[in-house]
Amino acid sequence: MSYVVRPGDTLWAIANRLGVGLPQLLAANPQLQNPNLIYVGQRLTVPTAAEYVVQPGDTFYAIAQRYRISVESLAAANPQIENPALIRPGMVIYIPARPVQQYIVQPGDTLWAIAQHFGTTVAALQQANPGVNPYQLRIGQRLNLPVSNQGQEQEIVVPRENYGYDEMMADLARLRQRYPFIEVGSIGQSVLGRDIPVVRLGTGPKEVHYNGAFHGEEWITAVLMMKFIEVYARAQQRGERIGNFHVPTLWRQTSLYVVPMVNPDGVEISQHGVDRSNPYYDLLLQANGGSTNFRTWAANARGVDLNNQFPANWEREAARGPRSPAPRNYSGTGPLTEPEAIAMADFTRAHDFRLVIAWHTQGEEIYWGYEGLEPPESEQITNLFVDISGYRPVRNLQSWAGYKDWFIQDWRRPGFTIEVGRGTNPLPITQFWPIWSRTIGIMLAGLTV
Ligand SMILES: [Zn+2]
Repeated sequence: MSYVVRPGDTLWAIANRLGVGLPQLLAANPQLQNPNLIYVGQRLTVPTAAEYVVQPGDTFYAIAQRYRISVESLAAANPQIENPALIRPGMVIYIPARPVQQYIVQPGDTLWAIAQHFGTTVAALQQANPGVNPYQLRIGQRLNLPVSNQGQEQEIVVPRENYGYDEMMADLARLRQRYPFIEVGSIGQSVLGRDIPVVRLGTGPKEVHYNGAFHGEEWITAVLMMKFIEVYARAQQRGERIGNFHVPTLWRQTSLYVVPMVNPDGVEISQHGVDRSNPYYDLLLQANGGSTNFRTWAANARGVDLNNQFPANWEREAARGPRSPAPRNYSGTGPLTEPEAIAMADFTRAHDFRLVIAWHTQGEEIYWGYEGLEPPESEQITNLFVDISGYRPVRNLQSWAGYKDWFIQDWRRPGFTIEVGRGTNPLPITQFWPIWSRTIGIMLAGLTV
């Protein structure tokens, strides 16, 4: 079911009127680059909640409240849960679609206009609201909206806390099943033997590359990549636009290669810590100063910062960082010693990328230069990205040996590090949708420049 924006609407008002939360409305409409910029006539998807992952502190009652359903109907939809008083964080529960969606009549509404706005007919509205006089609608009156018989597909990638390697692999399998035209491969393996997947989207000759989670505690960028894969593949399947971008055209012109999680071991260490079954247990504990709290761990499973591993003034970078394994900034004993960095270098050399973006989390900034070796067009592309996102452009940084540094140095083409958020790493998942709304435009525009 969809809703067409009318004059004076705000997303907040629409969410209220539809009786859904603003986050749910945003989640159902990932095409919205800026939630403050909706336009009259724009079609929005009305969310129907499907899967929900239990969060710390949740109760069955609170979840039912949040979705405005009864505890009884929530329990009925979840027969697998024996005791609703015992739900644990991380459990998936199913939120039943509310039997009827309601709409609250606004000044100036007519039944015909409401039917138009919801993509239904006056007859269907009348049928759903027996006894309502279509010529005497009252402001504030509640109308039932006819239940759409078009089953809405559930989202596969659900942003949630501690979205890690297993979640990514499970979602990739489901994405490949639903969108068989995407290609999923591997660029190599991590220190601990995890495959590092790559997803190809598009069939065109122009090659573009995005990667996430070079740094373990920045796993939210892997979720960002995964959500983009889903949204982009779905638009391709449906032959749709996302905003101004006609996806089938982009799909024919470009091949986007996404490596959502460059550093799977680092992500797992950040999310779950280490135990004695880890072959690098002693090294990791020592690198972490003896602490068992690994939440802010950035490096790989040998304490090497993968974004300090590339042959672009590696010695300079190594000289200013720690000299032994550490949670971050240790460059290793030489450039490209770590399997994840080697895999990225081999993968990059095997392609002919027009542009690359490494997605990181800290600073709301776009790094676009390297030692003056970047091409002049990097500046124009940066200006475009800044216009879209509001992030701050930074040309030079006293930093070397990063992936984008190496790409600019060796190819003299546009390479970027984009820091999408602000705060303490790992960023809380509540930052996901705000980050999404600022980056979806860059992810699309990056394919066109
Ligand atoms: Zn980073």
